Amino acid sequence: MNAQVETLDAAARAELDALGDLGSLAPAVRSKIAQREMPSQDPKTRVSNMDEVALGYTEAMARLEAQRCLQCPTKPCTAGCPVAIDIPRFIKAVACGDDAGAVATIKESSLLPSICGRVCPQERQCMKGCTVGKIARDPAKAVAIGRLERYVADLERERGEESVPAVAPPTGKRVAVVGSGPASLAFAADVRRAGHEVVVFEALHKCGGVLSYGIPEFRLPKAIVEHEVESLRRMGVEIRTDFVVGRSRSLSDLLSEDGFDAAFVGSGAGLPRFAGIPGENLVGVFSANEYLTRSNLMKAYAEGRADTPFYHARRVAVLGGGNVAMDAARTALRLGAEAVHLVYRRTEAEMPARAEEVAHAKEEGVVFRTLSAPTRVVGDENDVVTGLETVRCELGEPDASGRRSPVPVPGSEEVLPVDCVIVAIGNSSNPLVPLTTPEIRTDSKGRIVVDANHETTMRNVFAGGDIVLGAATVILAMGEGRAAARACNARLAGAL
Ligand code: FAD
Ligand code: SF4
Ligand code: SF4
Repeated sequence: MNAQVETLDAAARAELDALGDLGSLAPAVRSKIAQREMPSQDPKTRVSNMDEVALGYTEAMARLEAQRCLQCPTKPCTAGCPVAIDIPRFIKAVACGDDAGAVATIKESSLLPSICGRVCPQERQCMKGCTVGKIARDPAKAVAIGRLERYVADLERERGEESVPAVAPPTGKRVAVVGSGPASLAFAADVRRAGHEVVVFEALHKCGGVLSYGIPEFRLPKAIVEHEVESLRRMGVEIRTDFVVGRSRSLSDLLSEDGFDAAFVGSGAGLPRFAGIPGENLVGVFSANEYLTRSNLMKAYAEGRADTPFYHARRVAVLGGGNVAMDAARTALRLGAEAVHLVYRRTEAEMPARAEEVAHAKEEGVVFRTLSAPTRVVGDENDVVTGLETVRCELGEPDASGRRSPVPVPGSEEVLPVDCVIVAIGNSSNPLVPLTTPEIRTDSKGRIVVDANHETTMRNVFAGGDIVLGAATVILAMGEGRAAARACNARLAGAL
């Protein structure tokens, strides 16, 4: 245990002792218990390593945090969770010390609690409607649902208490899954459980989609993702990596020639968008996808031990205000940058990133340049980046997204001296599968169109996750994969 964990653990133990009989605590007492802080690595230490920042609750912290739940009969927290986990029931189990019961409750609805407990934007989902947060008039002070979810799921994994889900007898049906992100992992597990043979085709050499190549190790340890993929293998799911559907074989080949009865497309939204400003082709400009993939998937940060080179930059500008921008900025610091500037057109209140990532980025020294829009990347005679020109903005009328639009202030341009620019302003749908499968219809943004059963315009081909929603969240992708699996299982059973 590090010193901070020891201190927070001792405080939680003392507070639990002082509360006396936990079974008979009045709601007024419960609502006065302060939210347990999440122990984390010291910012000065963590900027020079890739280890996980948040260290997780100890048993005493989890039990005390669980005491804060008021067991609201209307379950506003559950209403905010995209997969409707029975949150009061799982928290009650944590409060009583029944960690196995807690994780079993969560797994009725979510297959990836260790992951969602870490990366869900809880303050905009389950915590948003929490009564405790409402009483405190601050959603950040709500019951720390994701931290408790992570605690019980980690405990189960670390103790080796997970059992391989039961698989029904073989049906003789075969199902192909394109991609191995959270939508595909959830789909594959539920279809395999019904006794169908499942083969996952992944374009990259590692499984997990964004969980592996996008979200950095310091936020989501890759061992957790590998563990989830291994669980699928143990259920009998076959996984073929380095297999690009649309190149190695087309989706139509898989269905008409390779003996698959149905398919799921979970190919995600991995196509980076650029700002469309002059100078974006200069040496030293990266999409966040490329930058993060080099670091996460190819371990470019382990210089000397990895084959993948990385770009040594001293001063970095990151464009954007979402999770991807925070991940890129914090990775740049860990790769040795002396200064990292986050350039965002609106104010911090409009930033789509998770509140915790914003707070962590600031603690680590990322400089936030809000109300600032990029206008041009500046380069030297060798076409190497030397600066980023930005213009100051003011907020005008709300746009289609409901957020107030940034309006540039003429004459306020300035050049920020940087040697690297990372563009993290959004991703579009991966186009390859729709391009090589004309039967599959897409909308004007390239997203695959599905019906209420998650079926595409090609019969027996289902789709879900970012390829349908546009860049969204892990839990939404997982929920879509499960819903598509229900429909696929019904179709293969002749009930749809
Ligand atoms: P993906 O995870 O994108 O997986 C798609 C997979 O399909 C990939 O592995 C890809 O290689 C593969 N593939 C694509 N085309 C083919 C093909 N033709 N053949 C075979 N395989 C193919 N969400 C959160 O909830 N919280 C966060 O904190 C968060 N942080 C993020 C940080 C970053 C850097 C990024 C990029 C995204 C983040 N997200 C976050 C969003 C979240 O990760 C995605 O919404 C989610 O992963 C989508 O899941 P998916 O299964 O639809 O697709
Ligand atoms: Fe909250 Fe996400 Fe867990 Fe649902 S899955 S309870 S939104 S952390
Ligand atoms: Fe507990 Fe908050 Fe849900 Fe009420 S809303 S049951 S306090 S987690």
